[in-house]
Amino acid sequence: MPELPEVETIKLSLEKKIIGLKISKIQINSHKSFIGNPNLVRGRKILNIWRRAKILGMDLSGDMTLLFHLKMTGQLIYEDDQRIIGGHPTPDMTGKMPNSHTRVIFSFSDGSHLYFNDQRRFGWIRVVNSGKVREDSSLKNLGPEPLEKEFTWVVLKQNLLRRKSIPIKVAIMDQKVVAGVGNIYASEACFNAKIDPRAKVGEMGEKEFKAIYQGMIRAINDGIKYGGSTRAHFVDPEGHKGYFLDYAFVYGRNKHPCKICKTEIKKITLAGRGTYFCPNCQTIW
Ligand SMILES: [Zn+2]
Repeated sequence: MPELPEVETIKLSLEKKIIGLKISKIQINSHKSFIGNPNLVRGRKILNIWRRAKILGMDLSGDMTLLFHLKMTGQLIYEDDQRIIGGHPTPDMTGKMPNSHTRVIFSFSDGSHLYFNDQRRFGWIRVVNSGKVREDSSLKNLGPEPLEKEFTWVVLKQNLLRRKSIPIKVAIMDQKVVAGVGNIYASEACFNAKIDPRAKVGEMGEKEFKAIYQGMIRAINDGIKYGGSTRAHFVDPEGHKGYFLDYAFVYGRNKHPCKICKTEIKKITLAGRGTYFCPNCQTIW
């Protein structure tokens, strides 16, 4: 599932392209994927793009906002004379658009297009009044944004301490504790902090809370720096450079040698999710 760094990467690449464009047409191939009245969006200009947790927002003229949640398999592909790809990676993402997984197509007045593709159709686009965005069910109960300066290790500690009995890796994936961290970056955060992902929150002290805070911020910033876990880049001969999973220390690296100590990375299941760690580097429990 695309996490904060993937959605941030999409935001950063889209904002250079689509701010100021007018939506001339919307084609909805799957009604499950588009909630709201498309007539409220047609003819509007895109004024601003923002991200909150894993949700992407586009503010439009006329006080309307589009919210996008990519969920498990959502993908946003923008195409003018180049292509920007963001979200869940699939083999067909570099092929011809639209494809059989294209659920919604936005056409802009300059002839460019934004495709919302989603194999499993858990993702959605929603039309809301800009004034009511904060009250939207997808946004109102979220915890703090990890990259905002108000979010400190003390805030993280306070939020974590409400979840004392669960493992730290599971706790930082709770969207009320901190917004936008999912399975990839939770594993990486524990690695950076040298904490065993199974360590219980209630058994952690100040040193561990500081370490998990720093480890998480580092994992998120590295994710953004390397373009998230999708190849969210222009598709050109250089387009396959930055790819966070090539840089990840543990995620997806079962049985590979640890990049620090060469010990074999282990994969376990924690709260139903594949969890990766180095048994030699991550000894704090
Ligand atoms: Zn190691």
